[in-house]
Amino acid sequence: MTHTLPDLEGLRLPGSKRSSKRELILNVFLRQEGHLSADDLVELIRREDQRIGRATVYRALQWMVEAGIARKVDFGEGRFRFEHSYRHPRHFHLLCKSCNRSSEFLSSDIEALIEEIAAARSFSARQSVLQIYGTCAECRTGRPGAADSGTTDLLFARDALRIAIATERSGLEFYARAAKAAKDPRGRAVFQRLADEERTHLGQLEARYQKLLARDPQLESRPTFLFFKGAANGLFAAGAEQIGRGVSDQQALMIGVRCERASHRFFKRYGGRFEDSEGKQVFLEFADEDRAHLELLIRECRLLAKREARTRRRRSRGRRATV
Ligand SMILES: [Zn+2]
Ligand SMILES: [Zn+2]
Repeated sequence: MTHTLPDLEGLRLPGSKRSSKRELILNVFLRQEGHLSADDLVELIRREDQRIGRATVYRALQWMVEAGIARKVDFGEGRFRFEHSYRHPRHFHLLCKSCNRSSEFLSSDIEALIEEIAAARSFSARQSVLQIYGTCAECRTGRPGAADSGTTDLLFARDALRIAIATERSGLEFYARAAKAAKDPRGRAVFQRLADEERTHLGQLEARYQKLLARDPQLESRPTFLFFKGAANGLFAAGAEQIGRGVSDQQALMIGVRCERASHRFFKRYGGRFEDSEGKQVFLEFADEDRAHLELLIRECRLLAKREARTRRRRSRGRRATV
């Protein structure tokens, strides 16, 4: 897997000279996926340049941790391991005690719970570590498990896209139903327009997903990285159901506002927390799209209320005239 290098100028610590040795160490480190001990890295560096000593590698690692390029992880082995954080979203670990392999995952529900607990104890959380120790499927059954986890950045992008696609699909269903049920011609046109937009975006997201698969032919079969229980697609699905039961145009718009607002918050809040990565981009772009929909719906809601008030006035004037 190749990585584009981060902006090294931006990463340089004030007062630190970036030697070509350090650059080599950085490059080798960033090419690795997984969790290296300092000695693993020394070995890899020696393969490239015999003259680089252990102390230099250690110092470079320390510098990378301070510069936020590397994260230190403790798997309870009596020594630290290091993983790069460049385009590598924060995550939790599953650790097999038989084969010592680790795999990574993230769960919005666990994170929400941690935040809730910290807030309840007015604790300002800086970092949370969750490690699940046990036996992996391969060690347990002897059968080779799902392909090794691959690049977390790609897995994260894949899962973010899956969530965005699911949300887009239920959004499309919601607006298509709302357009069919609308009585007011302008309201119908608005829902129709939103349904068309969702359809276009859905096509774009699916194309992006295909492009991602082209970068790793096994990507589809790799284990889930991002676990979500209460993702935003559930909101639109519930909204579509409500519309199916029969609502007024005003109510339909209000349901749309509620779904888009919750969806916008979900993607914005979640995307905002991640390190720069493709998955983060997917979430933030999606949040922007929902925001545009939200604003449109709020505008239409107000206009519809005005139109209805005018109609009511006209009707009551008409009634008075005929009396
Ligand atoms: Zn194992
Ligand atoms: Zn990790």
